[in-house]
Amino acid sequence: MGTLRLVLGDQLSRSLSSLADADPKRDVVLMAEVAEEATYVRHHKQKIAFLFSAMRHFAAELEAEGFTVRYRTIDDPANRGSLVEEVRATLTSEKGLSGVCVTACGEYRLAQEIGTWEQELGCPVSVLDDDRFLATPAAFAAWAQGRKQLTMEYFYREMRKKTGLLMDGADPVGGQWNYDAENRKKLPKGYTPPHRPAPTLTQQTQNVLAVVEERFGDHFGTLTDFRYAVTRDDALRALDHFIEDCLPNFGDYQDAMATGEDFLHHSLVSAYLNAGLLGPLEICEAAEEAYQSGAAPLNAVEGFIRQIIGWREFIRGLYWLKMPQYKETNALKATNALPEFYWTGETDMHCMAEAIRATRDYAYAHHIQRLMVTGNFALLAGVAPEAVNEWYLIVYADAYEWVQLPNTHGMALWADGGIVGTKPYAASGAYINRMSNYCSSCRYIVSKKTGEDACPFNLLYWDFMMRNEKKLRANPRMGMVFRNLDKKTDTEKKTIRKESRALLQSFGVL
Ligand SMILES: Cc1cc2nc3c(=O)[nH]c(=O)nc-3n(C[C@H](O)[C@H](O)[C@H](O)COP(=O)(O)OP(=O)(O)OC[C@H]3O[C@@H](n4cnc5c(N)ncnc54)[C@H](O)[C@@H]3O)c2cc1C
Ligand code: SF4
Repeated sequence: MGTLRLVLGDQLSRSLSSLADADPKRDVVLMAEVAEEATYVRHHKQKIAFLFSAMRHFAAELEAEGFTVRYRTIDDPANRGSLVEEVRATLTSEKGLSGVCVTACGEYRLAQEIGTWEQELGCPVSVLDDDRFLATPAAFAAWAQGRKQLTMEYFYREMRKKTGLLMDGADPVGGQWNYDAENRKKLPKGYTPPHRPAPTLTQQTQNVLAVVEERFGDHFGTLTDFRYAVTRDDALRALDHFIEDCLPNFGDYQDAMATGEDFLHHSLVSAYLNAGLLGPLEICEAAEEAYQSGAAPLNAVEGFIRQIIGWREFIRGLYWLKMPQYKETNALKATNALPEFYWTGETDMHCMAEAIRATRDYAYAHHIQRLMVTGNFALLAGVAPEAVNEWYLIVYADAYEWVQLPNTHGMALWADGGIVGTKPYAASGAYINRMSNYCSSCRYIVSKKTGEDACPFNLLYWDFMMRNEKKLRANPRMGMVFRNLDKKTDTEKKTIRKESRALLQSFGVL
């Protein structure tokens, strides 16, 4: 008897555990573009197009290897709209299948659902570990056990030792674990970041783009400049380009932002990694090799590797450790509405307009835009976590709940009360001005704290501190902020409160 091998849209890796012992003679692979998954939030058009096209190419590769692949396209009239119904139908239509095998999915909601399938389908359903990550949820839980605060840096050091990346025996290469302090430079005036080539669109991708425009035309985002690789070969080419042209300056300009420069030196690999076209170790090994050969400096390579074996694995570990309660937390009791300009990009705040434009055009914005611009604004404006989480899950091509939620809910909004970050990443306009050239093209004045043209981030920063004083003053890392707040007169505080309220009302937040 054979097995039905279900491959989900973010499991496009030939090394996938559910395919490892698959037998093309007896087993059947099922892949399905189901409406339930494509529309449970109204995903960005490029996100849907990327996944559908990458799935179709992956299915074709498996077929070329000799596998029988049952592939259900979104526009097939027989599409049943849900994964379980597609599985049931395939078990019935294909002869000689005795059970289902699937690699563990990346989302709590779907994992719960798959947990009921054995009963629902009346056959064995085996769920295998997703070994494309370096730390299993169980290994992370063991590491977290008994620790008061879960600090990424300590977890990261364990991952360095485990993988041997940038290790010199038992010590970190260069004598330091972390070179972050060197990675905070602004982009020099007149500097042009590397050109980012885009792969040629295959016929399959063009078909998918047409289907997406037709069926999901009213979703957020444009399809005009679709640049995603949809095969492993093209994703590897994109990685090579990053390692050669962008990695050497990745560290220096990791936190920089600039008008019209949407990619800077970032790797743009998150969508490929999260969908399985690339693996974390091969990416880090390519970066380490660049350091060993003298092609990239240590601050860049260490900073990059830390993002992948440190942050990415840490975030995933937290997700599985803390769900489902995690999603329900709202430590700052934020309840305000998400302003409409998150969807239209129509705002006079130039930094926000830039981050939202990039998001609309590429289903991408880099980390500092996500954290210190759109995330920071939502934090300062007291927007309800559910609304912000949903926006982030919709708009980025790399967004899956396991990675989006801890980053948004925890890191950006501090809704988890300090699990991801010990203090909120709240910042005034001064931070954005230090790391970008945005403020010089903005109608607001970054040096103004109150009044008609005052930078909204300045006003809202102090309003945020006053609104949340009871929850934050005792935080040892917030001492300086509250000492500065204490220096403000009552009249200044009243003005900030009054002007912030009016501003939030004008933005449709209150
Ligand atoms: C509010 C917010 C929401 C985010 N949502 C997502 C999301 O839905 N999906 C997602 O993959 N990342 C998310 N991130 C993390 C990070 O911003 C993106 O991984 C990164 O911007 C992707 O671009 P890149 O591939 O060019 O990354 P680079 O800057 O080149 O970094 C290299 C890689 O490191 C990994 N990485 C870096 N930081 C993180 C992090 N904090 N968490 C997990 N992985 C990380 C990514 O795989 C990334 O591809 C979010 C961050 C914030 C602040
Ligand atoms: S002045 Fe304020 S709103 Fe304008 S770009 Fe600078 S930080 Fe953003």
